[in-house]
Amino acid sequence: MIDLHTHAVPGWTRDGVARELAVCGMDRALVAALPLDHWGCELTPGVARLVAEHPDRLSGLIGIHPPDVEGSLRLISDYGNKGFIGIKLMPTTGYYPDEERFRPIFEEVNRRGWMVLTHCGWCSKGVKRPDLPQSTRFTDPYHIEPLARLFPDTDFILAHAGGRVFFPRATELTHYHENIFIDTCPGQGTWSLKHEDEWLCLLNWKNVLFGTDTAFGQPGSAEHYEARLTVLKDILADKGYLEKTDDVLHHNAARLLRKRGIAV
Ligand SMILES: [Zn+2]
Repeated sequence: MIDLHTHAVPGWTRDGVARELAVCGMDRALVAALPLDHWGCELTPGVARLVAEHPDRLSGLIGIHPPDVEGSLRLISDYGNKGFIGIKLMPTTGYYPDEERFRPIFEEVNRRGWMVLTHCGWCSKGVKRPDLPQSTRFTDPYHIEPLARLFPDTDFILAHAGGRVFFPRATELTHYHENIFIDTCPGQGTWSLKHEDEWLCLLNWKNVLFGTDTAFGQPGSAEHYEARLTVLKDILADKGYLEKTDDVLHHNAARLLRKRGIAV
């Protein structure tokens, strides 16, 4: 079982994460450092320490804020060889990822053969810098499409299945682009899979990735792991896609990780 969407929140401890990893029970997870713009503190160095602690189970994504192009490139350069295999974006903080001025960042990501995990769907309140123009609209997957066309070797993961209102767009993109994926993270990801029946037949199930949004260091998060897994399995069974379970929980993600030299 591979979980391609987890986090670590400020305040995590070595012992705490070790305990939580034991509870979660996935074979491997991708830990996304939330960008500076989301938590107001820099989490990439912490994720680097976490990945160094559990190299057999964790890989990382560098959290960047593309409007700071130089700072983003510096982070990629400083942490690129410390167990990271891609970047994490939080466009709800006021930018469209396909803006021309961000192109050098994606060229660098492409050069490294990395992947991009981008938050899609609802812009949660309260943890972002209030001066940033926050909106769900910035997460429209159509702002990833131009990048996916420009960089066919870079894999783009639309978190939370593209978000509730954008799920049909995300589905269509997986249908036409081999390098565009969705993850199953709750709540909007599982909500979409549960309620958007007519779109499920268009979904490219080879590009659907198991994700839980588990936040290591956040009390209670790991304890709900089994429940999140059960919800997803039940949806697949209820909707008639039981035979896709192994692909979603393992094979699809394994393909992405092996491409980055990670044995799974
Ligand atoms: Zn997340």
